[in-house]
Amino acid sequence: MIAKTAMGLPLKGLRLAIKSSDTLIQTAGTQALRFKTWFEESKTNENASEQPAATSTINKLSTVDAGNSVSAQASDSAASVEAPIDIRELEFKKAPINWIPATILISTPIAAAVITPWYLFTHQVSAPVWGVFGAFMVWTGISITAGYHRLLAHRAYKAHPIVKNFLLLGSTLAVQGSAFDWVSGHRSHHRHVDDRMDDPYSAKRGFFFSHIGWMLKNYPSGKFDYKNIPDLTKDRTLQIQHKYYGLWVLAANVGLVAAVGWLIGDVWGTLVLAGLLRLVLTHHFTFFINSLCHMFGSRPYTDTNTARDNFFLAIFTWGEGYHNYHHFFQYDYRNGVKWWQYDPTKWLIAGLSKFGLTTELRTIDDTTIKHAEVQMQFKNAQNQIDTVNAGGLDIPHAMKNFQDRIKFEFEAFTQTVEEWQALKAKAVEMKKTEFADRLHEVDDKLKHEYANIEQKIHEHNDNLKIAFRSIGYNNKAA
Ligand SMILES: [Zn+2]
Ligand SMILES: [Zn+2]
Repeated sequence: MIAKTAMGLPLKGLRLAIKSSDTLIQTAGTQALRFKTWFEESKTNENASEQPAATSTINKLSTVDAGNSVSAQASDSAASVEAPIDIRELEFKKAPINWIPATILISTPIAAAVITPWYLFTHQVSAPVWGVFGAFMVWTGISITAGYHRLLAHRAYKAHPIVKNFLLLGSTLAVQGSAFDWVSGHRSHHRHVDDRMDDPYSAKRGFFFSHIGWMLKNYPSGKFDYKNIPDLTKDRTLQIQHKYYGLWVLAANVGLVAAVGWLIGDVWGTLVLAGLLRLVLTHHFTFFINSLCHMFGSRPYTDTNTARDNFFLAIFTWGEGYHNYHHFFQYDYRNGVKWWQYDPTKWLIAGLSKFGLTTELRTIDDTTIKHAEVQMQFKNAQNQIDTVNAGGLDIPHAMKNFQDRIKFEFEAFTQTVEEWQALKAKAVEMKKTEFADRLHEVDDKLKHEYANIEQKIHEHNDNLKIAFRSIGYNNKAA
């Protein structure tokens, strides 16, 4: 049942789609038009054959960049022409040490690496202590993903106060800053992803910086003014957490852990394992999302930023390894959007909704998701074609066929997207003019037409798969 909900039944998002996906569909339309221009330009460029293939590819790709990367790109181009950026780069180099986080982030791994093995060799650790260690690992890790991340930063669902406060306490145990700091930084990350100056943990500054380096010094990109969290600054509980954050951290990580240790009869063992070791592991598992999830994996939804989908990392990050999807559709409560993708955070949120403890779970409808995937396939196809064309005049027959098939399929796809846009406009119009008692008939009719569009997009996807296979290219994301 949970899996069924998490997967999203094919048409259940339609009502939502009609109401709330104006922007997405408009983006879809705009992107399709861009693709059209891109293919036409591509044809002209090939005819002219003056421009070197590699340069031509870069130009083409930059033409079809999705909307969400525009700001990053604009900043990139600004970086190359505006001198004041150099001054900001200097500020980065001269950033002073951020003493409290730096001390915690450097001393705790060293302490864990020394104390844990020594303690395990010299003491008998009981099963209940290991149990508490496991429970605290789950609680802390999933509090960050379900609490700070999907609930507070993205408002992907609403939670009952019991759930919200439980996740807030778990997030405090994680020692990753107050909700204000964490969410403000994370919203900046999404808004300015990959921007060297404004993304607080920009992957463009390398593994170390995006993993942990960004917290060790007071970098300009790490100064938050909380203007991007007006929804949180009004929240009384979060205000208290922020104001007395240090005390809360100590109370949770020392007081609470020791109290649990006392209850199970081993205070020191619990402090070492469920306190120290759990803290260090949780830190780095979360940090993987900012570092490794922007380095290794596939990009099935967009290649306009560095975020990747990676099953292996999803295991350590409670499902957040599907980071490419997340960066493209950040308001979806699921990160692993396919029913089979390992995302325990999504299962928890969906499971709690069965008891009314979480509500208003936000999802992206299946057609929009598939559209993004198919669009990426066309981009991959163009890359394949460009690579072969760059090789010289002797293009294999199979590749020529592939090129023709892609062109044909792309035209059909553009038409489907246009139909989709027209249907959406029609849906809005019908809802406005129909009488309330006939709205369910309108809904049924629209449902049917949306199902047709969805099927067509799936067919484009299947045709692309066949085309890729014909050139011996195993396109995993197709
Ligand atoms: Zn990211
Ligand atoms: Zn996010």
